[in-house]
Amino acid sequence: MRRVLVVAPNWIGDALMAQPLLARLREKLRDLAIDALSPAWVAPVLRRMPEISAVIETDFRHGALELRARWRLGRSLRARGYDQAIVLPNSWKSALVPFFADIALRSGYAGESRFGLLNLVYRSGGERAPMALHYARLSEKPGTAPREPLPRPRLRVDAQAAEATARRFGLPERYAVLCPGAEYGPAKRWPEFAGLAARLRLPVVLLGSDRDREACAGIAGRILAGETTLDEAIELIAGAAFVVSNDSGLMHVAAALGTPQVALFGSSSPQHTPPLSDSARVVWLGIECSPCYARECPLGHLRCLREIPVERVLQEIDRLGSE
Ligand code: SF4
Repeated sequence: MRRVLVVAPNWIGDALMAQPLLARLREKLRDLAIDALSPAWVAPVLRRMPEISAVIETDFRHGALELRARWRLGRSLRARGYDQAIVLPNSWKSALVPFFADIALRSGYAGESRFGLLNLVYRSGGERAPMALHYARLSEKPGTAPREPLPRPRLRVDAQAAEATARRFGLPERYAVLCPGAEYGPAKRWPEFAGLAARLRLPVVLLGSDRDREACAGIAGRILAGETTLDEAIELIAGAAFVVSNDSGLMHVAAALGTPQVALFGSSSPQHTPPLSDSARVVWLGIECSPCYARECPLGHLRCLREIPVERVLQEIDRLGSE
């Protein structure tokens, strides 16, 4: 059996957009075990991917080099006998563990000058390709395009466990989930969730991390942002009638679960990071300054999101036929 170690991205959404790569690797080589090396906050998502055999959690501090700790972890992984490592983050330090683990073939994008740490180096070409395609290119030789369409991300959820979680939080049978946060920054946060919540017929549940509590303030609904684990949030999204979110990690979770959803894009682009689901409807105005990919609006007006009216989002929800 061949064994591959994938160094996972540090963002939930990116981890989901890397899943088509994992599916392609499994399609090409049935006798393959894929382990993922992942920060703890992304690990619950990876554990629900059928392509992954084991998740090895890291506890490196965000942005810290922690050379000794990486060396120790790499040494401890030598016994697992990996044939290949695929490094998905672009940072120099993210390529260290496979190097210290003595994995013979270490592939990934050139990123931060990782020549030497990686020995099969891909070039991204400068254009902002769809993120899922960008990752899936690593399933082929450099310069060879992967076959399209790509497989879609999909997460395993046990329906009974999801129902039990909804009961534990005292939720009714039918509810809508709103995710008003976006870790990336305010230029991805639609400011009209309160107006939307006030117009919905279904009970509203607000999900996100504890850093999203501020974005939930003033929105009528059950605020569970910061009150659930990521696993519980995944189960509550699986049981929702529909989800309305910004371009965020939970948007990609909803897509991977096939939950009907409306995705609102501001400074980013749905060409680059679309929700990969047939049950998704996207709202993106595409105004002249968009996409700028900024975390905060450099022009100060945030027209790309402010000009999305509540009425438009309600129309998209109607089209989902789920309320
Ligand atoms: S510059 Fe334009 S696209 Fe960027 S955040 Fe501001 S309004 Fe949105």
